[in-house]
Amino acid sequence: MSLTIALNRGRILKECLPLLARCGIDVGEDISASRKLVFDSVCGNFQLLIVRGSDVPTYVEHGAADLGVTGKDTLLEHDGGSGYYERLDMGIGRCQLMTAAPVGADLDLPKLRVATKFVRVAQDHYARLRQPVSIIALSGAMEIAPVMGLADCIVDIVDTGNTLRANGLEALDSITEVSTRLIVNKAAMKTKYDAVEALITQLRAVV
Ligand code: AMP
Repeated sequence: MSLTIALNRGRILKECLPLLARCGIDVGEDISASRKLVFDSVCGNFQLLIVRGSDVPTYVEHGAADLGVTGKDTLLEHDGGSGYYERLDMGIGRCQLMTAAPVGADLDLPKLRVATKFVRVAQDHYARLRQPVSIIALSGAMEIAPVMGLADCIVDIVDTGNTLRANGLEALDSITEVSTRLIVNKAAMKTKYDAVEALITQLRAVV
């Protein structure tokens, strides 16, 4: 029985492919050099889909893919989450979701303007703190929002902190740790139980 796996293109894909290869999943060509988005494994048991991170949970919850690999940040942000199980921490893509602001900024404000791509995560975080916020949704380069006066602070992914420092910002609170996760469609977990469990067992041994 063949399994379809939706993979987050970019950084996660690069780190994930060697792990899949160690489980015998190889497509026999250089995925990153190809413009193709669907690949069959040489063994014939897997089909790999290369999609945007935020589309991985969508493919999996609708059953268009049996499994998916994407970051915990994407899963937290995805609305829904009822159509899949999160089964494995792949141990790659480790980073943190953090708040950050210009060095020395005064954030003691009645209402904070928060620029972020992680609208849900930011809303939940500030609701827990009972801090009124107005969320400014951006799709990237959040670091420049406070510099340009669009926001007081940001919620963003931080790995080394170099991007923040390069833009005159400092990391403040850690909201949550992030890493790459394997998710499984709920129906596939039943109908393709043996194949799914075999893959998870193999992956668990190599992560
Ligand atoms: P850094 O400068 O090392 O703190 O990296 C910060 C930038 O790299 C962020 O703006 C993110 O967009 C990106 N980044 C770092 N780690 C990850 C990750 N594990 N997953 C996705 N994006 C990441």
